[in-house]
Amino acid sequence: MNKIECEVLILGGGCAGLWLQYELCRKGYFVVLVENGILGQYASTRNQGWLQSGALYTLRNTPSAVVEQCKEGYKRITKFDQIHSLNSIDKNSQAIFVFPTPREMEKALERITNAGLQSEPIGNRDFKKIVAVLYGAEKLQSALQTTDVTVDTYLLLRGLVANILECGGRFYLLEDTLVDQIDGHESSMHWEIVIKDCRFLAPIVVCTAGTLIPRVYSKLTAQDFPGIVKKATVFTFHQRLCRRLVVIQDVRMHLLNLSPFSAGTTANMGGLDLEADSACDADVEVGQIQYLQEIITDFLPGFRSWIPCGLTVYICQKLELKQTAIKSQPLGIRHYILEEPRQNLFFLYPGKFTIAPVAAFELTRKLSERLGSPVHKGKTVVHASRPVVAQRSYFGNITHHVLVQSDGIRIIPVAG
Ligand SMILES: Cc1cc2nc3c(=O)[nH]c(=O)nc-3n(C[C@H](O)[C@H](O)[C@H](O)COP(=O)(O)OP(=O)(O)OC[C@H]3O[C@@H](n4cnc5c(N)ncnc54)[C@H](O)[C@@H]3O)c2cc1C
Repeated sequence: MNKIECEVLILGGGCAGLWLQYELCRKGYFVVLVENGILGQYASTRNQGWLQSGALYTLRNTPSAVVEQCKEGYKRITKFDQIHSLNSIDKNSQAIFVFPTPREMEKALERITNAGLQSEPIGNRDFKKIVAVLYGAEKLQSALQTTDVTVDTYLLLRGLVANILECGGRFYLLEDTLVDQIDGHESSMHWEIVIKDCRFLAPIVVCTAGTLIPRVYSKLTAQDFPGIVKKATVFTFHQRLCRRLVVIQDVRMHLLNLSPFSAGTTANMGGLDLEADSACDADVEVGQIQYLQEIITDFLPGFRSWIPCGLTVYICQKLELKQTAIKSQPLGIRHYILEEPRQNLFFLYPGKFTIAPVAAFELTRKLSERLGSPVHKGKTVVHASRPVVAQRSYFGNITHHVLVQSDGIRIIPVAG
């Protein structure tokens, strides 16, 4: 059995794990991350790619702390992108918030400005162009443009991985799920986690993987995980539909959300299966297809004209904590979960990749206090695998094509 000692062991290589590893490695700690497949294979690369400025939450009356976290995360991601010339942010993308009356638009403008964010009203001529392509937009009268943009999270994660390697961080990529093989023993000095033929010894373990959390939580803490994992369906459009992110500030708000980024346009249709405890590319079942069909029928008429396009259907997880279960802070004060149910065992789950850097920063500060100066720097590790960041895997992993045509919708399973 290989013995691997490190200062922090992170489970799960999505944006939460990678940002945390990056922050810790920059401080000189020797951090090993274990991933059960390809880095960034789940939610972190299958989301809407919406780099949140915080404007949305300002308008939704979310506590201002969440808005501040978005602002901070936005700044950190933008800076990281610039410093490392990643070009992961689509600077030409826009967020447009559309309102039924000019009065409502003005109120929104005021709130966004009061929150220290930028936005400006869209002139009449441009507004007409926007509503021209939107179905049901007749009643809408004005719009605001904010600084929300889209980001290609693949590129972003690749940038993180490169930097982590440079700072001496290591990855262990395993081929299949390792939940059942995890065995945790706590001693006064370290956690011991046995995964396959490796024995990891670390004073601190951080579990980040959304899917992994409930089962590992129960295993390592002997308590039920106080959260729920939602499966969320992601439809990935194969064509760029437009270069705008559009949010309609009325009942259609959730029905039309076009996020054009270089990896494709995605739309999040919310939870399907509240009981699911694993995120996967499971086959889409007949009932779900029915559901998809209904949703797509509702959703795509957002365009005045039918635009034939292929959609990729993915299912990935979203994690939520039960309101009552939050011990340290009420839900909504922050947009991430950071818990220490047992000493030196942390659970981290960012509700948004936008704020993953903020959560990682906070946890790094906490862990540095606990760890003191780095001791393992430069130590050679056995079996460090070559990291692989998901290679736009959803293009190669198409389960269904959804063809939208003037005479209706056809959903075609992809053979093989
Ligand atoms: C449909 C959808 C749309 C979203 N849109 C946006 C958006 O527009 N903007 C935004 O800011 N945020 C968005 N989010 C939220 C954001 O994507 C997530 O909050 C964030 O990616 C979670 O990161 P994570 O690292 O915790 O989880 P994940 O990215 O899911 O990473 C978990 C990692 O753990 C690994 N793992 C799983 N099981 C195991 C195991 N047994 N052992 C080891 N490793 C394991 C997985 O392979 C994966 O790499 C969206 C989320 C969803 C689902």
